[in-house]
Amino acid sequence: MALDLTAVNQWMSAFAADVHENADLLTDLDRQIGDADHGSNMDRGMAAVVALDPGSFDSPAAYLKKAGMTLVSTVGGASGPLYGTFLLRVAGGWPSDGDAAGLGSALRAGLDGLLQRGRAAVGDKTMIDALSPALDAYDAHAGEGIGPALTAAAEACAAGRDATIPLVAKKGRASYLGERSAGHQDPGATSMTMLIEAAARTLS
Ligand code: ADP
Ligand code: MG
Repeated sequence: MALDLTAVNQWMSAFAADVHENADLLTDLDRQIGDADHGSNMDRGMAAVVALDPGSFDSPAAYLKKAGMTLVSTVGGASGPLYGTFLLRVAGGWPSDGDAAGLGSALRAGLDGLLQRGRAAVGDKTMIDALSPALDAYDAHAGEGIGPALTAAAEACAAGRDATIPLVAKKGRASYLGERSAGHQDPGATSMTMLIEAAARTLS
């Protein structure tokens, strides 16, 4: 499938549906090491994104850019600017042809934006711990095409999410807990896995 406006709209819609369905889970995870708002934050933001009319954009990049701006403006909390920056950067690198390497570069531009914005590193117990190994897996499988690359990315993302459990948080609200943040799954890594899993279902 081409990485066209319809595909990108399906990606955002699938992510929004997952976030909505799992809003209580995301909020419960954030209750344990944060302030119990990650599910409501993301649900509010993605509801605003799916309310956008994809027909009013002339390219997938323009739609993704608006989706990112919408998250920045509707989501209070750290995750709005972080996911917003991710989507804005992905939009900026969106490939005009549907090639796997181009999509990989766009997603990596998104990760770079997240790293710059949040100043977190791998191992800090954030969404980065899911996204970074996901994109490494994507790159390792990009030669096989978008479908296999995104499937590998989604698996690595879920493994990275699970691997946040024993970590001690170094960034975000969870870091205020220090050692007590260990033993809990990071909410942002959990929503990030939903985003990459949604990409695997819709963009391949
Ligand atoms: P807030 O922490 O402001 O309440 P949310 O609860 O919506 O915002 O989001 C929390 C999630 O944001 C965390 O689980 C973590 O994955 C992510 N996060 C927090 N700070 C950073 C950061 N500096 N870089 C990357 N991700 C971060
Ligand atoms: Mg929170």
